[in-house]
Amino acid sequence: MKNIKDYNIDELKEELKTLGEKSFRAEQIFKWLYVDKVKSFDEMTNLSMDLREKLKQNYDICNFEIIKKLESVDGTKKYLLGLSDGNAIESVLMEYHFGKSVCVSSQIGCKMGCKFCASTGIPFVRNLSSGEIVEQILAIEQDTNSKISNVVFMGIGEPFDNYDNVINAIKILNNPKGLNIGARHISISTSGIVPKIYQFADENIQSTLSISLHSANNKTRSSMMPVNNTYNIEELIQACKYYIEKTNKRISFEYALAKDNNDNLKDADELIKLLKGMLCHVNLIPINKIENGAYTKSSLENIIKFRDYLNNHGIVATIRRELGSDINAACGQLRRQNINSE
Ligand code: SAH
Repeated sequence: MKNIKDYNIDELKEELKTLGEKSFRAEQIFKWLYVDKVKSFDEMTNLSMDLREKLKQNYDICNFEIIKKLESVDGTKKYLLGLSDGNAIESVLMEYHFGKSVCVSSQIGCKMGCKFCASTGIPFVRNLSSGEIVEQILAIEQDTNSKISNVVFMGIGEPFDNYDNVINAIKILNNPKGLNIGARHISISTSGIVPKIYQFADENIQSTLSISLHSANNKTRSSMMPVNNTYNIEELIQACKYYIEKTNKRISFEYALAKDNNDNLKDADELIKLLKGMLCHVNLIPINKIENGAYTKSSLENIIKFRDYLNNHGIVATIRRELGSDINAACGQLRRQNINSE
């Protein structure tokens, strides 16, 4: 059956027309789903019994079950959410001074195979639907009885490998009469699927873009991220320049520092050369060692040196604060098996 949360408001209006209903019903349903957060059509009391019956016959309301919740000393919460088909996914809630942010998964598993990421090795199962992306935020809002202000697509999966559903999820999240999370408060992170960067640039969506760069050197980057063999650094940067020109928005480059791999000042020099003059920001992350991982974290001292070197050469760089590392919820640590075996 179709999941009613997969539709943005315009699509829902169309669906209702096919059921012989007026389109304003779509707005009522949106309010029930995303403001009142009801879990059944029976609770939508301003709809006629007849319409509720029709809805029940044609659609499911996907509601995730919280299978497990882990809480970090810093307040970060990691959720294992059960889907209706028996699969499970992870989402993380982080608290910042500006509000609450949810890190969502976009796929069950991932195909990208980045050597340093804990998602590698989980067999790819399927894409998440738009409604399943949205439901992660809804489930966490309900559990914490709070409002989520920001969403980052940095959980399991490659969002640009599930492009259409991710874009539609953003449209659903944006609805001012629904969850009302502005596109500017949503951030997508990609490992660098170049054609989708062009497509995203042409989309009139104000969400921010992060690129997992991790090295300015093709040999090193290919050894960390197989996607670099398909779309190399030159092609990637060309797409990024197009995006910046088209949207006038700053790109955030993510750079996870691994000892003696990509953390020397000569690596910083290559990065400076690559990014010089671009409207961008570099987010430095101490790489998280994963089970059997080949990489070790750079020392904080070295990361600070790397940051200062970039800043002194005209590249704006900051070190990302690590949240939830004690519950394996920090960058790249999401992995279903972990949570199950704890
Ligand atoms: N597939 C997307 C989004 C998911 S990963 C992407 O690649 O961008 C989210 C971020 O975490 C990416 O920047 C990724 O490179 C980073 N990451 C993955 N594993 C990591 C690790 N072990 N340590 C630090 N960052 C990691």
